[in-house]
Amino acid sequence: MALIVHKYGGTSMGSTERIRNVAKRVAKWVRAGHQLVVVPSAMSGETNRLLGLAKELSPEVVTPSIQRELDAIAATGEQVSVGLLSIALQQEGMEAVSYSGWQVPIRTDKSYTKARIQSIDDARVRADLAAGRVVVITGFQGVDEDDNVTTLGRGGSDTSAVAVAAAMKADECLIYTDVDGVYTTDPRIVPEARRLHTISFEEMLEMASLGSKVLQIRSVEFAGKYRVPLRVLSSFTPWDIDIVEEAKSGTLITFEEDEKMEQAVVSGIAFNRDEAKVTLLGVPDKPGIAFQILGPVADANIDIDVIIQNVSQDGKTDFSFTVHRNDYARCLDLLKNTVGPAVQATQVLGDPKICKVSIVGIGMKSHVGVAAKMFRCLSEEAINIQMISTSEIKTSVVIDEKYMELAVRALHKAFDLDQEAA
Ligand code: ASP
Ligand code: MG
Repeated sequence: MALIVHKYGGTSMGSTERIRNVAKRVAKWVRAGHQLVVVPSAMSGETNRLLGLAKELSPEVVTPSIQRELDAIAATGEQVSVGLLSIALQQEGMEAVSYSGWQVPIRTDKSYTKARIQSIDDARVRADLAAGRVVVITGFQGVDEDDNVTTLGRGGSDTSAVAVAAAMKADECLIYTDVDGVYTTDPRIVPEARRLHTISFEEMLEMASLGSKVLQIRSVEFAGKYRVPLRVLSSFTPWDIDIVEEAKSGTLITFEEDEKMEQAVVSGIAFNRDEAKVTLLGVPDKPGIAFQILGPVADANIDIDVIIQNVSQDGKTDFSFTVHRNDYARCLDLLKNTVGPAVQATQVLGDPKICKVSIVGIGMKSHVGVAAKMFRCLSEEAINIQMISTSEIKTSVVIDEKYMELAVRALHKAFDLDQEAA
């Protein structure tokens, strides 16, 4: 008997018919002798619908007190899901009980709309499991120390599921979703993209932070910290497929580097269209200048990603960095009106039409020339590289947005990702 956490995404919960299928699948696992905790998302489209209603009443202003209500509103989507799933499970002959975040409780900090889980009290859940019940817990939401309802940020149900699995020391956390695993890249862009049987936790972390949307990045961080065995798999297989087959389908996120070393140097290509570039021209090249520029940006709560500073000519240099597109207008404004004049920049430029394309692979640690191969591939496609950033297991380039798909396809081919690793 194992303790298993299942997470079902919005599409898997998209209709009562699908919820019935989820219940049948869960019941199959219970009948095979396992203890099950299930963490569903809101029905697909529901969170957008709920937040849309709030936006109708307050299109622009999002004060902290409005954020509090946004969480109170958005959290209801998951509350409906757990109730429906619990009923569907009972119809399957299971004993099932649903809990909202506050009932468990799942305690978070106070950052509305992007709260972090701090602790989970598993006593109640354990008692239910011991009594033979299936426990259905809301994804995405928790409660702060003053009993305000909070949410964990979009896509946060992944994190709820992994956190529950970590708190309960579950044997495995299965993330059921509308794709059948983690792919070498987005199959909508590269039809030859392949499903990976395994991916290391470090690679998954990079892929998630570089724009792959399969898992919320915080869920991967959580899985890494608590070493939660995590698998991404499809909820669209027939619910009655053989459980042994199901249990090894999808993509397993592994912690064993050695296994992985045997495989391809590059495991995947990630891309991200959510960034924008800003540039300060002709700033004096002297100690403290980066701080003078980036300090105020950080103070304005704007996250910075790739940074580049040119060699100086006549004591002056150019300084560029990327920020999230949501922060672009605010950042450009800050640079034009405050930072630029303060550091005597001759000009402030902005370009929101950029994207970041990255190659990711643990094998890069032990192979040379991987980045060079990437640059050769892009040059053969006549794609200009505007910025570069690297880490041990990834190389990212910032390029013109209009070449994104071309770059991803060319790199996927250049690194033989359409071929099964030997
Ligand atoms: N329902 C939430 C969202 O749409 C959380 C989730 O689905 O993971 O972002
Ligand atoms: Mg999701």
